[in-house]
Amino acid sequence: MNGRVAVVSGAARGIGAAVATRLAADGLAIGVLDLDAAACTSTVDAITAAGGQAIALGADVADEAAVQAAVQQLADAFGGPTVVVNNAGITRDNLLFKMSVADWDAVLGVHLRGAFLLTRAAQAYMVEQKWGRVVNLSSTSALGNRGQVNYSAAKAGMQGFTKTLALELGRFGVTANAVAPGFIATDMTEQTADRLGVPFDDFKAAAASQIPVGRVGEPADIANAVSFFVGEAAGFVSGQVLYVAGGPKD
Ligand code: NAP
Repeated sequence: MNGRVAVVSGAARGIGAAVATRLAADGLAIGVLDLDAAACTSTVDAITAAGGQAIALGADVADEAAVQAAVQQLADAFGGPTVVVNNAGITRDNLLFKMSVADWDAVLGVHLRGAFLLTRAAQAYMVEQKWGRVVNLSSTSALGNRGQVNYSAAKAGMQGFTKTLALELGRFGVTANAVAPGFIATDMTEQTADRLGVPFDDFKAAAASQIPVGRVGEPADIANAVSFFVGEAAGFVSGQVLYVAGGPKD
């Protein structure tokens, strides 16, 4: 993968940081994008310390001008990105009757509008080079999850977005696939435990007891799946949703 350039959103921590680090180890130069460029320092430092190439990009993925500027900054540094990993995400959980319009809009904005803007900003480079990879982070919540009408709608939307990208961009050598994680131990799931008033270790143990492989996922489990979709060997795999959840999902 040497010479390829990737942008990974939400890569300051959690799954995004693991994906960025893994793709750098695969030989790609990485735009480590997150809301605050300073927050990307640890991911960038880990990549460069291991001999890889990375720069920090500060942008809100829901902000069209900021996304455009970040992609331009990456193109100026390493070349135009032909790999996009739409990973930035937030949760604003509540039951439907208590959910505010702001919480609905915020979640749809980061996941769907964000994935649209970042992919659109990078697609010209992919079409020009007749090669590209888009990997979108969906979730098992796409199948429905109590308290997450906003998030499950966004994550189901990511799957439709992925399949349509696969149809539109395939003839330019571009594949688009989605990874749908189950429970992964990150700040996001820790915040959910906090909100429910459950110690994170107990929360993880309860989740693990329901997962066929008997453990919760780690960010590296997702990075492995993303690495597969980005790799040359996956060039005939497109429009797929891969559940990475320690067991089967429908
Ligand atoms: P995380 O630890 O909360 O990290 C998410 C990252 O996205 C943070 O660095 C966050 O920045 C960044 N971000 C949030 N809003 C952004 C925006 N508007 N623009 C740019 N960056 C933004 O979450 P995670 O658990 O690693 O999740 C990563 C992805 O996997 C998400 O799409 C999530 O929905 C999905 N996923 C996670 C799980 C799980 O169990 N953890 C399961 C299924 C799917 P700040 O720190 O500044 O907020």
